[in-house]
Amino acid sequence: MQKKQHTNFPRIAVVGSTNMDMVVNAERIPVPGETILAHHFFMNPGGKGANQAVTVARLGGATLFISKVGNDVFGRQSSQLFHEEGIDTRFMLSDDILPSGVALITVDQKGENSIVVSQGANNALLPEDFTGAILKELEKCTMVLMQFEIPMETILHVARYAASKNIKVVINPAPVQTIPPQLLKYTHILTPNETEAELLTGIKVKNLDTAKKAAKAILEMGASVVIVTLGAQGALVCEQGKMTLVPTEAVQAVDTTAAGDVFNGALVVGLSNGMQLPEATRFACRAAAISVTREGAQSSIPYYNEVIAHFVGKE
Ligand code: AMP
Repeated sequence: MQKKQHTNFPRIAVVGSTNMDMVVNAERIPVPGETILAHHFFMNPGGKGANQAVTVARLGGATLFISKVGNDVFGRQSSQLFHEEGIDTRFMLSDDILPSGVALITVDQKGENSIVVSQGANNALLPEDFTGAILKELEKCTMVLMQFEIPMETILHVARYAASKNIKVVINPAPVQTIPPQLLKYTHILTPNETEAELLTGIKVKNLDTAKKAAKAILEMGASVVIVTLGAQGALVCEQGKMTLVPTEAVQAVDTTAAGDVFNGALVVGLSNGMQLPEATRFACRAAAISVTREGAQSSIPYYNEVIAHFVGKE
């Protein structure tokens, strides 16, 4: 593991999921009732919450990660790994009944995959978990970043509390589901990708024009700032009637897994370090562009000095 670049960024909370990805590589995906032999097996910590927390930490953010795992080996392993990343894991809670979240992934020879996710303890992270000590820690944060892999009632509860304490709320609406209108009221920035923007608005996002239409519709739903991530095109930043396309770097993409997670983690680090929205988005695009040049999810997340070094002289 690389040594982390220490910075004095303010504290950032990530509230979200932790999964253990269990991946088998096989010649093909088995049909129902069939058993086949795998060539290779490996485990990888994942979950959008965890990926985003690791990104914040590697980019130098002082990271508080609030999540729920099972009282099992996967939960303990993830907590230990995230602790070694420099993340404050004191509030990675453990559920005595439900197992840790797991994703069972089969990848065939062509790289196609089939995935079954068991959310397990992620579903048990509830509003009542946010009591005294956790709330005190949250109050020390300037931003809270959440995704949609934990119960919506919890996201709403945390967003409401954070907004009441002037903590900026950033919501990455992934995987997409209906957004309660109250959530948008507490949200400072919403960051859908093209598919999520389309599912939220019903507008088919297939180019910059349609992305702008979808972004406008999301602003009309009540969000104050929307950033639509556009894969290899970069990201469209929309605030107060102003739309700016921030292009990403041209790179040789090998695996776009977790690109969105890296984008979101880097965005909050940039903002909490005082960057303006377009500049923080550029920083996020750069970090995400590096991640797509590498295999895997958490294994692809860059460190702060890599993001800086990679783009020296490219201003
Ligand atoms: P997505 O969730 O696919 O929209 O990707 C999130 C962010 O990752 C984008 O806004 C880009 O900054 C970056 N990204 C994704 N795919 C690529 C790519 N092929 N080349 C460069 N950057 C990318």
